[in-house]
Formats: sequence, C-alpha cells, structure tokens
Amino acid sequence: MHVAVLGAGYAGLALTRQLERSLPADVRLTLVDETDYHLAQHLLHTTIGKPKLADELTIELSAALDRAEHRQAHVTGLDPDDGVAELENGQLSYDVGALTIGAETAFHGVSGAAEHGTPLKRLSHAHAIRERFGELTADQRAVVVGGGLSGVQVAGELAALAADRDGNGEKEETGPTVLLVERSQTVAPGFSAEFQSAVRAALLDAGVEVRTGWDVTEVTPDRLGLADGGSVGHDQLVWTGGIAGDRAVGDRPRVRADLRLGERTLGLGDAVRVVDANGRLVPASAQTAVRQADVAATNVRRLLADNAPAPSLERYRYTGLGWLVSVGEETVAQVGPTVLRGPAAKAVKTSVGTGYLGSIGAWDSAAEYARTVLWPN
Ligand SMILES: Cc1cc2nc3c(=O)[nH]c(=O)nc-3n(C[C@H](O)[C@H](O)[C@H](O)COP(=O)(O)OP(=O)(O)OC[C@H]3O[C@@H](n4cnc5c(N)ncnc54)[C@H](O)[C@@H]3O)c2cc1C
Repeated sequence: MHVAVLGAGYAGLALTRQLERSLPADVRLTLVDETDYHLAQHLLHTTIGKPKLADELTIELSAALDRAEHRQAHVTGLDPDDGVAELENGQLSYDVGALTIGAETAFHGVSGAAEHGTPLKRLSHAHAIRERFGELTADQRAVVVGGGLSGVQVAGELAALAADRDGNGEKEETGPTVLLVERSQTVAPGFSAEFQSAVRAALLDAGVEVRTGWDVTEVTPDRLGLADGGSVGHDQLVWTGGIAGDRAVGDRPRVRADLRLGERTLGLGDAVRVVDANGRLVPASAQTAVRQADVAATNVRRLLADNAPAPSLERYRYTGLGWLVSVGEETVAQVGPTVLRGPAAKAVKTSVGTGYLGSIGAWDSAAEYARTVLWPN
C-alpha cells in the first residue's frame, strides 16, 4: 500500500508526521513538495524586518521526516478518484492521498496587479519587498493592498523598517510612507470588532496610513486606480489581496467535514475550502490546517483499512483558538473574548511561534526565533 501527501506546508507536514507514527510499517509513505524544506509561512513577514530569521523559518524536510520519503517535484494535476498525481517529472499513483499544496495569491483579475505588485508567499518575495523598500526615499510611498492578516503584518514590518532605517533601534521621523489599502470597511475583515479596532490602532501607532473602503480596480507601474474613479500613486506595491487555488488543481475545491476530495484523496489546508461539521466555511489559516491534519490522519487510516464504498470517516469541526498579529514590534492577540496588546500579546505570539517550530522538531530554530523576536538589537 502507498500513501502520498502532496505539499509539505502546515497541513501536509503535520499529516505526514502523524502518519509516520501511526501507519503500519509495510505502508509506503511519500511526501511530495516542490521545495526541500517546510516554510513556517505564518511568520514569513518577520523576515522583511529581520532577514536572518529566514534560516529559522525554513526547516529541511530531511530533518523533519523520519520514515517518509520526500520527492521533490511540482504537482501539475490530480485525479482524486483514481489516485494519480501528475508531476512535472512523471506520475505518482497512490492508494490513499492528501492534497495539501496550499494556495496562491489572488489578484482578482485586477489589471496590472500581478505585473506590478509583489505577493508574499515565498522567502524570495519577502526578500524582494525588503530590498525595494530599502531603495525608497523619505518622500516616496509603499502601498500594501489587502488588510487581512498578511497585509496588516507586512505593513507593520515596513513601518518598523521606515522608523529604524539605520537599524540601531532608534526611531527616526523620515522614512518612506507606508499606506495600507483595504476594500472592506475595516482592516482584518471577518474578525471581531474589538480585534479590528485594536489592529487599526496598532497600525496607526506604528505610523501606517490606513484607508478602508478603497476598492483597487487597476494597477499601473506608479498608480492604483480605484472603483470610485480616484487614484493614488505608489513607488512600491505589495499585493496581499487574498488567496486563490493553484492552477494545477483548480480553484480551491470545496470539501465537506470528512475532508474527502475524491474516492482516494482527501483535501485540507488552504488548497481547499473546508465546510466543517457545523456547516461553517472554515477560515484558511495555519492553525486550521494543522487541526485538519489530525482528522485527515484518522481518515487516511480508515480509507486504507476499509474497502467499503462509504467507510465511516471522522468529521472536522472548527474551534477558534484565537488570533495573533504582529504590527512591527507591537502585537495584537485575541485570546477567547479578550483582546490584548503590548508585552503580554507579544509573549503569547512568540510562544505560539516557538511552540510550532518545536512541534516539528526544530528546537534550535525555535530558540533562535524567540531570541531574535524578543531581543532584536
Ligand atoms: C505573511 C503571512 C502571514 C500569515 N499569518 C498567519 C497567522 O498569523 N495565523 C495563521 O493561522 N495563518 C497565517 N497565515 C496563513 C497561513 O500561513 C496559511 O493559511 C498556511 O500556510 C496554510 O497551510 P497549508 O499547509 O495549507 O499550505 P502552505 O503552508 O502554503 O504549504 C503548501 C506547500 O505546498 C508546496 N506546494 C505548493 N504548490 C505546489 C505544487 N504545485 N507542487 C508541489 N508542491 C507545492 C509548497 O512548497 C508548500 O510547502 C499567514 C500567511 C502569510 C503569507
């Protein structure tokens, strides 16, 4: 028997590590990813301000895996019923598999957005964003489009860089402007009103200009056109306007709470839209991807064991664990009904980051991450 996991992000790595421990020794286990490392993507924005963190947030798969075989390849297509993944360099057949390749940045068909905007999904993006921002002069403007978790955190990193251009930890007044533009009427759409207003306050305190209700409809090399006919100039554009499916497998197909995408394949994480056991569309996030991996591991085992056409599968139920965003050196945390800012929030965020890295066996990276975040200078 052969189990294949396609994508080594939060969902794929957590699932593979669970299967390594729980599948019978004679079941072959393959983890496919186009890279040879796992990226702690939910902390990717921190490498804009602190590039040395890049090493801590990329964990070599050879170190994170035990018995699973890593195959480095780009997935270009999938037959979830027959159990066949098309790879750039051949085919991979499996008895049971899981699609965990995450998502791409959504440009929503806005003309010029993909051409002139830098997304933030990979380390190379973070590096390009930092480099370009370093070239801007004090009278120039960086615009971040998208006020979700990614955009808020990118804008915060840029504002912190603008305020500390010499890198000596002392605040200056003369950095480039950072403007965050969001189509909804609020930043952090979809979160609680208290969280939204705390995030907005943290952005303003950091020196970010915030414009909500601005719908970008066109991008040129130096301007953004807006739906109301207005426009605004930019010298750098970062585009964090949401997520879309990978072209290889279609636009984030829906799966129900049992995570079943086809006869032989489960789908979890950002690669799919999960509707949970309460009928709720689950927010795409690192924390939900890891939780879904628990259910997926059980269901992979049941599908392997049970050849009946409709085996009984476990169902995923979303439970919010709270939310944490960093805005430069500041952090906003939603812990249950309570919204925190300041050192307590930063401590929670740092411990979640270190806890995650530790959970995949990267203890040295966890310690270095905590040291760099808590004692930056
Ligand atoms: C800047 C930023 C900040 C964020 N902050 C938070 C936060 O605070 N909290 C939170 O919960 N979430 C946050 N997120 C969202 C979170 O990172 C994602 O929801 C999470 O990464 C999804 O996990 P995943 O396993 O589905 O996909 P990913 O983590 O994206 O992993 C997908 C994997 O598949 C591989 N892959 C992709 N395409 C292919 C292909 N065609 N073939 C082979 N391999 C492929 C990739 O190399 C990658 O290893 C943030 C995201 C960003 C970008």
